[in-house]
This record gives sequence, C-alpha cells and structure tokens, in this order.
Amino acid sequence: MHLILLGAPGSGKGTQAELLAKRLGYTHLATGDLFREAVRGGSELGRLAQSYMERGALVPDEVTIGLVRERLERANPTAQIVFDGYPRKWVQARALDELLASRGEKIDAVILLNVSTPILVERLSGRWVCRAQGHNYHLAFHPPRVAGVCDVDGAELYQRDDDRPEVVQRRIAVFLREIVPLIAYYGAQGVLHEIDGAQEIEAVHRQILSVGGIPKAGSPPRPA
Ligand SMILES: [Zn+2]
Repeated sequence: MHLILLGAPGSGKGTQAELLAKRLGYTHLATGDLFREAVRGGSELGRLAQSYMERGALVPDEVTIGLVRERLERANPTAQIVFDGYPRKWVQARALDELLASRGEKIDAVILLNVSTPILVERLSGRWVCRAQGHNYHLAFHPPRVAGVCDVDGAELYQRDDDRPEVVQRRIAVFLREIVPLIAYYGAQGVLHEIDGAQEIEAVHRQILSVGGIPKAGSPPRPA
C-alpha cells in the first residue's frame, strides 16, 4: 500500500516517513532526495531539473512527475511507498493518481499531520547549526551548553536563512495556502486522515499505523 504524508515544514512528516521506512520497510520517497538523486544520476530529466534549480526557478510539474515515474520504475515492484513532500499541489496529486493507476496501483491513505503555527514556529526557528561540522542544536529541545558554541568542536553556531522566524512564518503561510485544494481532493476520495502532529513521535507513529490501516512491523516487506 502507498501512503502520502502531508504536513507543514516542522510537522515531523520526514521523521515519520523514516520510521515507516525503518520499521515497516516502506520506500521513503522524499522530493528533495529525488531531485538530488536525479542530478547525481545524470539522467535527461535530472539534467533538466538541475537547469531549473541552478537558475533558482521552480522545477515544473511535468519534470517532477517524470522523476517520480523514473523512481517508481526503479523500485521493487512490491515496494510500498511513503511520499514525503510530494504532491504539494492539486495538479501534482492528479498526475500521481494517473501514474499509479497506469501501474494498477493507488494511494491508499493520505495522512495530514496537524500542528499549530506557534508550535511549528517554535520547532523550526529554534534550530542552530555548527559552522564547522554541521552539528545540530535546538534552543528548546537540544540546546548547546554554551550559547552560540558547538559542544563537540567549539565552532560557532549559526541559523540557516530558512530557519529564521520571519522566513519560517512565510514557509508556513505558503503551506497553509497550498494544502487547501489537496485536503479537498483527498477528502473527496475518502482517503484523508488527520492526526494531531503535536504529539510525541511514537504516539504519532502509532496513530499513523492505526488510521492508515497499516499492519505493524513483524514481517516487514522487502525494501526497494
Ligand atoms: Zn560542531
């Protein structure tokens, strides 16, 4: 069965997709990884995607869905996939449905991780990174012993542009705007489930398993 995880930046959907991959053998298909793999692999579509990214332009939908198609063709035919970061728009959702239908497959469950904006802002804007080796810190959840200094190597900590509070607010606003048509689309299909994403990681994981109708780990399917 195939799943889509929907959620704002900071909702924890990447973490949950990784848990599904690790414990239940799902193939984690994250859009960012897909682009990086395609560029490294040097396929025609990969080069095309790269040309857009180098210009700082959005990769067009037909290129992205082409990359998803190539990735599915490489996956084990029995692979169960958890989509993370795709689709983001209605047109992408429809293209994904068509692609899966052409393979005799479908999306079985779409899980929306609901997290309130203040919690998202706290989660995202607390991130600080070590300039020397990329060690990660979080002001609320994993603060450094000395403010602004890496515990491991003493290097300076900095905040990525994406994690600055004003940028975080903007990313969340974009998400809230983009998600509306997807909620309508998957709601109409009867596959949408909403989960409180502010809970502990394990609690969210258990709820994904129960609402998604996913059998618990035990005889994990073969990964792709
Ligand atoms: Zn460090």
